[in-house]
Amino acid sequence: MGAGPAGTAAAVFLRQAGHDVVLVDEARFPRDKVCGEGVSPEAWPLLARMGADGAVRALRPRPLRGMKLTAPDGTAFVGEYPGPREPGFAVRRWCLDRALLECARGAGVDVREGVRALDIVATGGVVRGVVLEGFDGPQRLEARLVVAADGRRSVVARKLGLLREHRTLRKFAVRGYWKGVGGLTDHGEMHVTRGGYCGIAPLGDDEANVTFVLDQADMRRAGGDLEDFYLRTLERWPRVAERLPRAGLTSRPRAIGPLALEARRVSAPGAVLVGDAAGFYDPFTGEGVTLALRGAELAAGVAHRALTGGSTDLRLYDRLRDEATRDKFRLNRLLQRVVAWPALANAVAGRLSRRPDLADRLVGIAGDFVPARTAMGAGFLYEMLKG
Ligand SMILES: Cc1cc2nc3c(=O)[nH]c(=O)nc-3n(C[C@H](O)[C@H](O)[C@H](O)COP(=O)(O)OP(=O)(O)OC[C@H]3O[C@@H](n4cnc5c(N)ncnc54)[C@H](O)[C@@H]3O)c2cc1C
Repeated sequence: MGAGPAGTAAAVFLRQAGHDVVLVDEARFPRDKVCGEGVSPEAWPLLARMGADGAVRALRPRPLRGMKLTAPDGTAFVGEYPGPREPGFAVRRWCLDRALLECARGAGVDVREGVRALDIVATGGVVRGVVLEGFDGPQRLEARLVVAADGRRSVVARKLGLLREHRTLRKFAVRGYWKGVGGLTDHGEMHVTRGGYCGIAPLGDDEANVTFVLDQADMRRAGGDLEDFYLRTLERWPRVAERLPRAGLTSRPRAIGPLALEARRVSAPGAVLVGDAAGFYDPFTGEGVTLALRGAELAAGVAHRALTGGSTDLRLYDRLRDEATRDKFRLNRLLQRVVAWPALANAVAGRLSRRPDLADRLVGIAGDFVPARTAMGAGFLYEMLKG
């Protein structure tokens, strides 16, 4: 259910394991998705296992060789993805998600676009299918397994009572596409200021996705004119704004939020939650797409074993996903604190600008190829924070 990166990956991995798979999405592809559009290097091996790496390369994504972070006082540091490793990439989700969907179709998945899920079908506490919007009213689609990959507003996860908005963290994002941007390199950028941050993903020589994230209170000022609000708000990042005087927006900005979602569990009898339907914290470390693919692979593995064993018990997936994400999510929370406190963000950026080895390690963790566990040790944190 849902044909973004999580849904297409789950569909392909289940199909590779020999199952019949129906993939349903309310949208018709290509479709837009508000996202920073920087994908971490660790997506490549997952895309290769899906058989989708060739299709993604054919989109000629812009390589991302690392990240540049700029603190509120202008102190900047660059973390590089290491040598022989294939770099991360930036590409429009409009193109990426369609390529992944075509990959699923090519793998033999029964893809149904323009079909909305309305509800789940459950008997005896076990999910047995979904209710879809049909031409003549609701229709049931029965299934031995339902994969909830229907994103942030997941009908499946919410009907199961497993997903809700975060109680305290309430951030919004506004994205704009630009042409004529100065100073783009083959690094993604993150600019931190008091109360928010702004990311730049280079999509071409002078084309970029410029997305900022703010607290809900700031978003109230948006009023009715989002484009005007977006342009005014960008002035909060003078080092971003100064690169835009000759640039123009190529489409109307789009907003999304609140961003943070909490999932109580990521499985229920007969159903698994993958991608954003399994929860979302904050896009600062930009791992959503890779996490969606990885979670889908884990879920498909557990589901395959359960389906071939005639079981609906999928709790192993909760444990495996928790093991795979726990340290990274802790680091994300820690970085949120740093970002929220300008003096601390300035101090950490100063420290990392003098210690490229630490900067590379931090960016490597964000890029998902350095285990986050190594950052959660007292040694790394002490090194990062000491004056
Ligand atoms: C501001 C922002 C910036 C981000 N930046 C980055 C970044 O730079 N890099 C990165 O890797 N990640 C980033 N992310 C995270 C990333 O966008 C998500 O984690 C990722 O899209 C999750 O994929 P998904 O397949 O779970 O969901 P989605 O991509 O949202 O796909 C869900 C699909 O479900 C469909 N759907 C929804 N409801 C229904 C329904 N009822 N019936 C049928 N279909 C339905 C939708 O049409 C959609 O196609 C960012 C997120 C935000 C909010």
